[in-house]
Amino acid sequence: MQYRTDPASGNRISALGLGCMRLPGFALGRPDARATDAVISAALEQGINYLDTAYLYPGNEEAVGASLARLGARDRVLLATKLPHASCKRASDFDRFFDEQLRRLRTDHIDYYLMHNITSPAQWERLCGLGIEDWIARRKADGRIRQIGFSFHGSEGDFPVLLDAYAWDFCQIQYNYANEHYQAGTAGLIRAAERGLAVFIMEPLLGGRLADKLPDAAKRVFREAADPKLSTPAAWGLAWVWNHPEVTMVLSGMTSAEQVAQNAAIAEGALPDSLSAAQLDAVARVVELFERANRVPCTGCSYCMPCPHGVNIPGCFAAYNASFAHSWFTGMQQYFTASAIRTGKPRLASMCVGCGACTRHCPQHIDIPERLGDVRRRLQPGPVDLALRLMTRK
Ligand code: SF4
Ligand code: SF4
Repeated sequence: MQYRTDPASGNRISALGLGCMRLPGFALGRPDARATDAVISAALEQGINYLDTAYLYPGNEEAVGASLARLGARDRVLLATKLPHASCKRASDFDRFFDEQLRRLRTDHIDYYLMHNITSPAQWERLCGLGIEDWIARRKADGRIRQIGFSFHGSEGDFPVLLDAYAWDFCQIQYNYANEHYQAGTAGLIRAAERGLAVFIMEPLLGGRLADKLPDAAKRVFREAADPKLSTPAAWGLAWVWNHPEVTMVLSGMTSAEQVAQNAAIAEGALPDSLSAAQLDAVARVVELFERANRVPCTGCSYCMPCPHGVNIPGCFAAYNASFAHSWFTGMQQYFTASAIRTGKPRLASMCVGCGACTRHCPQHIDIPERLGDVRRRLQPGPVDLALRLMTRK
């Protein structure tokens, strides 16, 4: 395993970290214990020493805590979790959530504690008004929080404002070759590193859209630029992120021991500044093709779910993008599956009533009802819409 040094703490961190949000069974809110043990054991075997979870991932902290206890591995990992700050209405809420997190994770301290999904400086200012700076100082003084940071899904312009707003130890940003100028972007990565923060990366493959779901033409570009170490689109995507010396660690939401082994093998050789000019050129061509096909920037995180009207929001967007990345027919097939039309409980884009309940949860700032209208127009044109109505008529 390749290790990189956290400039703030001096910790040696595996270049690949385990994002636990998508542990097997996560969709039901009950990660499967045996599968969780298998993934975490595989991660430890491969030298991964950083695990990331959050209060808001259903059942996740409990699953990670229980697995680490069964494996006797708490002391072998740096454990990260996140404060659901939007639910904090008064100063006492900080300890209320934090104590519950320690219980769930069966630990007496958190190595890396984050404000979860900060999207604007105003959110941090509100927390400061509740006294969070004093609270952090107390928790750091008693050793229950070791490093403090934030995860970010706001705008490129707001990121430096947040960096300057507090003496952070680290930050966690969405970063990949398709997002150089989106959210924190390359400018934010460099600025954070220059301030001496460890920079952790999430969404290095955009929820799989830079891996197997990449448009066919883009996959061809990578194949033609063949390299034994970069044999898959996922390997290219991860290596591109690790190519940046400012990156401390890349989180990947691995769901099986095989996936852990594959990504660990890529991490091993993906050193800073190791991609050639020709390889970087291949990535630039892939970016052009990806941008042409990727009409809705949905990562499939499901933060917007469930929709009270039953729409399968990420499924609709994945099918819509597939209809441009591959073919309209492929998108239609995917749409039929995602919308569960054959089960008699449809989850179609046309069921959106525009209530807006989902939109505020989207870290990608997608106007969900508006874009579901695009999905309906492309994947539910007149005759298809009529057929679907007949199929779902009670
Ligand atoms: S806006 Fe549409 S998709 Fe979003 S919660 Fe309301 S009905 Fe569901
Ligand atoms: S629409 Fe937004 S919140 Fe919903 S799955 Fe996609 S990225 Fe996540």
